[in-house]
Amino acid sequence: MRVTMTIGGQAVDTPAHLDVTDPATERVCGQAPDCSAEQLDAAFAAAATAFPAWHRLGSAERGICLTAAAGTLEQATDELTLLLTTEQGKPLAQARAEIGTAVRWLRHFAGYEAPPEVIQDDDEAHAVAVRRPLGVVGAITPWNYPISLAAWKIAPALAAGNTVVVKPSPYTPLTTLRVGELLRGVLPDGVLNVISGGDALGALMTRHPVPRKITFTGSTATGRKVFAAAADDLKRVTLELGGNDPAIVLDDADLPGTARKLFLTAFANSGQVCAAVKRVYAPRRLYSDLVDALVHEASTATMGDGRDPDVLLGPINNRPQLERVADLVADAVRRGAVAAAGGSRLDRAGYFFAPTVLAGASDGMPIVDEEQFGPALPVVAYDDLDEVVQQANTSHYGLAGSVWGDDVERAAEVASKLDCGTTWVNSHLALAPARPFGGAKWSGVGSEGGRWGYEEFTQLKVEYLARSGVR
Ligand code: NAD
Repeated sequence: MRVTMTIGGQAVDTPAHLDVTDPATERVCGQAPDCSAEQLDAAFAAAATAFPAWHRLGSAERGICLTAAAGTLEQATDELTLLLTTEQGKPLAQARAEIGTAVRWLRHFAGYEAPPEVIQDDDEAHAVAVRRPLGVVGAITPWNYPISLAAWKIAPALAAGNTVVVKPSPYTPLTTLRVGELLRGVLPDGVLNVISGGDALGALMTRHPVPRKITFTGSTATGRKVFAAAADDLKRVTLELGGNDPAIVLDDADLPGTARKLFLTAFANSGQVCAAVKRVYAPRRLYSDLVDALVHEASTATMGDGRDPDVLLGPINNRPQLERVADLVADAVRRGAVAAAGGSRLDRAGYFFAPTVLAGASDGMPIVDEEQFGPALPVVAYDDLDEVVQQANTSHYGLAGSVWGDDVERAAEVASKLDCGTTWVNSHLALAPARPFGGAKWSGVGSEGGRWGYEEFTQLKVEYLARSGVR
């Protein structure tokens, strides 16, 4: 599979290419262009050239273009689904859902606008707060959800009248590049430019003088670099970073229903989700029953090549991430945790790590304190609810969290004490385009989704008209 970049509505190739590996087979499955610095200049220049006309078009006309883009991607769902599974690893049903998410976000933001707000209307003046686009936006995405996370950025950015240059992760560039190819002629030339390259290309984007905003999803470590690089030029940033979401199970939680839902939201995309359940806190009275129920889920879940329709869990996307998960699990076992399910790689080609439930885990173990981002879930026992809320909040991360119990009012009261961007009761990972999503503390800056996410792609401007004239 060989795909081209899209710059100013044209196909652009490069002399150098990056190999892309299929994580289920460890074989090269495609090649992506390795964008040069000159081509990056061309992409930002194309976006800057396209900006004034796209802005002038107005939100309704832009909405028609975004709706057409959604329709084009929807029609190409089968092709995009297979390509996404091939480069990312997730099972076909989850890849299909991801393409559906992108389509939904494009439709949600099509025609979206922030109406002007009258903030003063008296003898002195008529003053209105309006929102204007920022100009050119640089969008940088990670490898776990390349298409839906690109759409989270592209849809509101374009709806607000900005133009975009998007760069996917070097591990998963093919589907995003293919989206760029499909949208040529659907969106006006230069409105959406898609380039590919390594991490150095991302760094060049953040230092480039043209974009007025960088919207970034990825690790906290890289987010810090993006923040620092953007500071020089006072570029706006939205940073969606890592998470270490706690799930607190209360003593009246229903089993095995809770275990089933916890399993699905911890092991979705084989745990490679920013807002997956990453640590479970269970009351000592329910502890062994909950561990047993999670072990049952883990040992009956089918892991394999995502192209097999019977598979629930695919591989980890890349070798460094596989090694990190394996190291964290081995370290936890050395420190006294027990791999009640899984605990090691599958004996086959591909970056497969058996779905792992770690019993006897405790705070202080790196797999509890850090983001594992893989199919391994530590379960920590607790005796005191107030203490466990404090433990959950001690983390540097603050993306999301959940509380599980039959008495939903009590669960909601506990959830209200969690220090993070989203809390759920008897649910986790429930996302929708109208709801903002963003992290507290090291999990990010700003948010995506809804009016709040849209506004992050705008500049607030006050337009003041004196009533008294010049005399
Ligand atoms: P990463 O930070 O390694 O890479 C993300 C992107 O940044 C890639 O496109 C990469 O090429 C680019 N990049 C690398 N160095 C850069 C630099 N110096 N300047 C600019 N760009 C640079 O992250 P990843 O490993 O691809 O993704 C996994 C991480 O993403 C996890 O920590 C996960 O929690 C996080 N994530 C967060 C959210 C959220 O919404 N909060 C969603 C998904 C993933």
